[in-house]
Amino acid sequence: MSHELSEFSLIERYFQHATQRSGHVRVGIGDDCAVIDIPEAHQLCLSIDTMVEGVHFPKGCAPNHIGYRALATALSDLAAMGATPSHFTLALTLPCASESWLLEFSSGLFELAQQYRIDLVGGDTTRGPLTVSIQVHGYIDPARTLLRKGAQEGDIVAVTGSLGDAGGGLALLGEATVSSAQEALLMRYYRPEPRIEQGVLLSRYASACIDISDGLVSDAGHVAKASKCLLNIDLDKIPVSVELKELFPEDYLSKALQSGDDYELLFTIAPEKWRQLHLRHPDIGFTEIGRVTQGQGLVFRKNGTEHLITEKGYQHFG
Ligand code: ADP
Ligand code: MG
Repeated sequence: MSHELSEFSLIERYFQHATQRSGHVRVGIGDDCAVIDIPEAHQLCLSIDTMVEGVHFPKGCAPNHIGYRALATALSDLAAMGATPSHFTLALTLPCASESWLLEFSSGLFELAQQYRIDLVGGDTTRGPLTVSIQVHGYIDPARTLLRKGAQEGDIVAVTGSLGDAGGGLALLGEATVSSAQEALLMRYYRPEPRIEQGVLLSRYASACIDISDGLVSDAGHVAKASKCLLNIDLDKIPVSVELKELFPEDYLSKALQSGDDYELLFTIAPEKWRQLHLRHPDIGFTEIGRVTQGQGLVFRKNGTEHLITEKGYQHFG
């Protein structure tokens, strides 16, 4: 489809130049398909995400952030499986082929691609409303794949990082001037960090894992459902940043529970594995937020009181 638009030949230039050609890539951009080696005793793990302007990022968003964020959110799914990312493809729908837009977009995209040494190996380019689809591929040791369904009774429930910051950032979009605390939250929205290293580490310890893209309530609910168990979460233990607390003193907890876009990992882990993990990585910075018990769904506790969360979400606080 792309060659009905001659100006799109420049897209190949923007995207081909940064290709690093890791050892796995036999054929990259430029032929009809990419051809990739899969390392022995590994499996391919893949996921695709689409971002539409005005739906998944605001109109007028800086192209650099769009490129970075589209790849970051796609990589987050690999992190949640414990996979090591290897390469990706890009389907780009553009209203027009602006060189300055492409330059900025590709620089945001490749900043992250270079950080993880992953190659762009192909894609598609069409004209239409601004839409970015990225399919990421990674490798996994079959014995260590982290699934949503692995949580066991007695496991600890834990998360990486802090929750609610990106939701705070989203609420701040469009502010004319921003303080450094506001800027920190906005960057958590625009430039989430996929927890790749953490996912790879957790593949040796955790029993189940998911990335928190839609909010803790929703994503913990997916683990509970897939694992057929009850996740008991202690609201007093949910990690929140000082910036979020400072800027949203009334509703930081509901942001941490219900707003998405943080791309932290939620995982379950046997107590003995949790202890081993901390012996070997004392400064890992993960936070225990609850326990897995027999039952189905989610229970949230605050000051000793139980609150059952329904599919409609969390309605008792904030
Ligand atoms: P075809 O018509 O055979 O599908 P295209 O003309 O769409 O091929 O693309 C030519 C080459 O450029 C292919 O290798 C394709 O993977 C690559 N390509 C096209 N668009 C992009 C893009 N947005 N990002 C990366 N590679 C792209
Ligand atoms: Mg072809």
